[in-house]
Amino acid sequence: MVNAPSLVTNPFSPPLAVPHDPKFCAVPPGIDLLEAIVQLKKERNAILLAHYYQEGDIQDIADFVGDSLELSRRARDAKDASVICFCGVHFMAESAKCLAPDKIVILPDLEAGCSLAEACPPEALAEWKRRHPDYTIVAYINTSAATKALCDWICTSSNAEKVIRAIPENEKILFVPDRHLGDYLIKKTGRKMELWPGSCIVHETFNARKIVALKTRHPGAKLIAHPECDASVLEHAEFVGSTSKLLEFVITDPAAEFIVATERGILHEMRKRAPGKILLEPPVDTGPDAAKGACASCNECPHMRRNTLEKVYLALRDLQPRIEIGEELRLAALRPLERMLSLK
Ligand code: SF4
Repeated sequence: MVNAPSLVTNPFSPPLAVPHDPKFCAVPPGIDLLEAIVQLKKERNAILLAHYYQEGDIQDIADFVGDSLELSRRARDAKDASVICFCGVHFMAESAKCLAPDKIVILPDLEAGCSLAEACPPEALAEWKRRHPDYTIVAYINTSAATKALCDWICTSSNAEKVIRAIPENEKILFVPDRHLGDYLIKKTGRKMELWPGSCIVHETFNARKIVALKTRHPGAKLIAHPECDASVLEHAEFVGSTSKLLEFVITDPAAEFIVATERGILHEMRKRAPGKILLEPPVDTGPDAAKGACASCNECPHMRRNTLEKVYLALRDLQPRIEIGEELRLAALRPLERMLSLK
């Protein structure tokens, strides 16, 4: 595991985020929010993209619900829309803006961040890179545009294995920022990699000992887990995969009961697409060692849940808050993103 270096000057301008003026922020009383959002979407010629970790109401009104890879593709291919309302977190909306620069990209809550993206600031990565110029840097998509701009490849949990296997054997690899996904990829591919010490505050909350106890009480249940989980959890899983792979597994696997070790928002789509299946939420660690900033009692991402229907309405009404990225930075971040998307 590498030691994240101290901060030095960012070689790129930081992304410009346009603040949302609070004087425009009131939702009119008595309004039918769902109806108003549908109407505004038409008026703005907007497409609403939502991540599986959004609250159920937002997923239900979205034009498309998916994981990071699917949403990136949808943003890139949203040729006819003028506006992308991105219901996810900041790095996802930034990726959408990189891929669709001619669109207005709005994020209902600009403060919707991510512990992984925060773990690898561009200044620290630039310093590491300066000291290790001979490394190929692979970044999980959960990074800011300024961090992506310093990397050679981007990957998501859906295609990370494919990306690592595409890199010639003689290249040394630094994987940022998720040490658990990196560790999982080392085991899957046999490839030696340096790992950045970041983690997801939600997936780190799962407690392997308690999960094993739950499995004992539900012997027919299959544990399915996202690779952002700690190795101690993954080693007990019958299936490990990205959010959309977990969804597919629940739909197609003959088992009737599953313990779903990822953010609980995915349960909404799982219940819709696999109505007969029993879905259990794994126990989380709520003691003093629980991951900082996570929900005290559940596997809910506090960043994802900053977006609400009210904020979606306001964002569509005011076309704020917007994601703006300087062109030099956008092009630099786009290069590794497109490299990933062009991988067959
Ligand atoms: S669930 Fe974890 S990885 Fe996803 S946005 Fe929240 S903190 Fe980031």
